[in-house]
Amino acid sequence: MPEKCSRYTRIDGETRIDLDRFLSHIAIAGPDDCWEWTGYRKPSGYGWRSNTPGKARWAFAHRLAYFLHFKVDPGELCVLHKCDNPPCCNPNHLFLGDRDANNKDRMRKGRGNRWLNRRHPNKKVDLVVGNEIRKRWDNGEKQRLIALDLNLSISTVNRAVRGVI
Ligand SMILES: [Zn+2]
Repeated sequence: MPEKCSRYTRIDGETRIDLDRFLSHIAIAGPDDCWEWTGYRKPSGYGWRSNTPGKARWAFAHRLAYFLHFKVDPGELCVLHKCDNPPCCNPNHLFLGDRDANNKDRMRKGRGNRWLNRRHPNKKVDLVVGNEIRKRWDNGEKQRLIALDLNLSISTVNRAVRGVI
């Protein structure tokens, strides 16, 4: 079984889709262009709210676009972007994948978290420490002083700053 998509939103028969209203929020362009969602954007993504009375159901716009075009409910799968443009709702740019594929896709496109994407897990520096090192370095602290303060080697701090661990 594929892993459940983290951006899973239900689309089902109860979701009333006002097609005209939905399409009015998409900047439809040529068949190969990106069609960007111009409507309301949830902090976690690009959202569209159904107007089913008594129900506030959110769906991600690109998932809904996929559903409306292909007549396939993505269910627990992720709807991914070939174009790497999250607001894009052009069905030609959308494809289905599970969460694993989603993560690989993000990593391949360089949007993964570089602290989690480290090639060599380093026992000395975990995510929290790595973030602290980076924050302090961004604030202008010398790598040598950060290393002293955190009792780490300079090379460890340097690698953390460069995002290679
Ligand atoms: Zn696109």
